[in-house]
Amino acid sequence: MDSIYLTPEHELLREQVARFIAREVEPHALAWEEAGFTPREVLRKMGDAGLLGLMYESAHGGAEADALTNLVFAEALSQSTFGGFIITVLVHTDMASPHLHHAGSAAQKAKYMPGVTSGRTITAVGITEPGAGSDVAGMRTTARREGDHWVLNGTKLFITNGVRGDLYFIAAKTGSARHAMSMFIVEKGTPGFTVGRSLHKGGWSSSDTAELVFDDCRIPADHLLGEENRGFYSVMKNFQTERIALAAMAVGHATQALRLTLDHVRDRQAFGSSLFDKQAVRQRIAMLDAKTRAARQFTYHCAWRVTQGHDVVQEVSMLKALTGELVNEVVQGCQQFHGGMGYMRGMPIERLWRDARVLAIGGGATEVMLDEVAKRY
Ligand SMILES: Cc1cc2nc3c(=O)[nH]c(=O)nc-3n(C[C@H](O)[C@H](O)[C@H](O)COP(=O)(O)OP(=O)(O)OC[C@H]3O[C@@H](n4cnc5c(N)ncnc54)[C@H](O)[C@@H]3O)c2cc1C
Repeated sequence: MDSIYLTPEHELLREQVARFIAREVEPHALAWEEAGFTPREVLRKMGDAGLLGLMYESAHGGAEADALTNLVFAEALSQSTFGGFIITVLVHTDMASPHLHHAGSAAQKAKYMPGVTSGRTITAVGITEPGAGSDVAGMRTTARREGDHWVLNGTKLFITNGVRGDLYFIAAKTGSARHAMSMFIVEKGTPGFTVGRSLHKGGWSSSDTAELVFDDCRIPADHLLGEENRGFYSVMKNFQTERIALAAMAVGHATQALRLTLDHVRDRQAFGSSLFDKQAVRQRIAMLDAKTRAARQFTYHCAWRVTQGHDVVQEVSMLKALTGELVNEVVQGCQQFHGGMGYMRGMPIERLWRDARVLAIGGGATEVMLDEVAKRY
């Protein structure tokens, strides 16, 4: 065990996920990158293996595990070098479905959770809009009550799993006050709800990303998720789970980049010896490794504090800022030591370099995270 926070059970989970990745992901994921999405069959297999509802009630197919176990899962998943596959799964497990888990009524959970944990129902979360990303409260999508229905109007942008999702958790303004917003459950196929565009990205190629359009989309009144006008606080609460998962992904990418690079520099000869024999190369790798290992322990520490019921907003914001920047430093440094081959499509280090970029932007850009830290001094 390489952290005081880890137990033998965590190790078994990590090995189970590693076997799944070796068997079901790595041999196929280059084709998914070309296709632009991860097939839903993969999530179904993960559901069958009991991997998609770790934190959720056992009555709905979950394992009632804590935030540390959930982190072990996210980090183990992030041993894959395919960020698009990882984010497809982590949006489902750690970013979208937690809205149902935290705020759903018994009836909503009974209806939807079994599909979530079995991987039959793919989830997405729609907060970001063309005019409002970091500034969540600046959103323009509205929901107005009409009899037994809510009527949604607006557009959501950059929504992961947006094209192939089945169930969407959508934020909309429900009052004139700046923070008056609510969360809603919207099923695929609801009249007035369309997937506007499938978006092409620089990285995360095996995840689908969409624009969603709501045009007088009528949903039943009981599809309000949580309390009316309290959606902003639900979004902020769920960001803590999301940001720990994104930190796990960043640490996972950095660890994989270092592993690939150590193999490469030991093998590659230049000027009469291996690249590893050059002091400038191996010292740089050692420093990047030191930073990555420190960040990894900080990630575990944040998840442990969640299990203790502590307020972690400041630390998780630090963690998101730190790991989002660090993964870019590490992956770029590692790519440098791969030389020209590191710039070639199909090379894992080149993919990690493209996939890492968004980790400093999505789910809370670095600057915004640092402001959240500073506000709490
Ligand atoms: C591939 C991808 C997948 C995504 N998936 C989802 C999803 O599933 N669901 C969803 O709702 N959203 C999703 N997002 C949206 C993502 O969370 C936002 O892109 C992010 O929050 C930043 O918002 P923005 O793009 O509108 O940038 P803006 O808010 O316009 O900010 C642009 C930049 O300005 C700087 N900045 C912003 N505010 C401040 C400030 N206060 N101080 C200093 N600098 C600042 C930052 O550098 C920031 O990167 C996804 C994005 C991408 C790229």
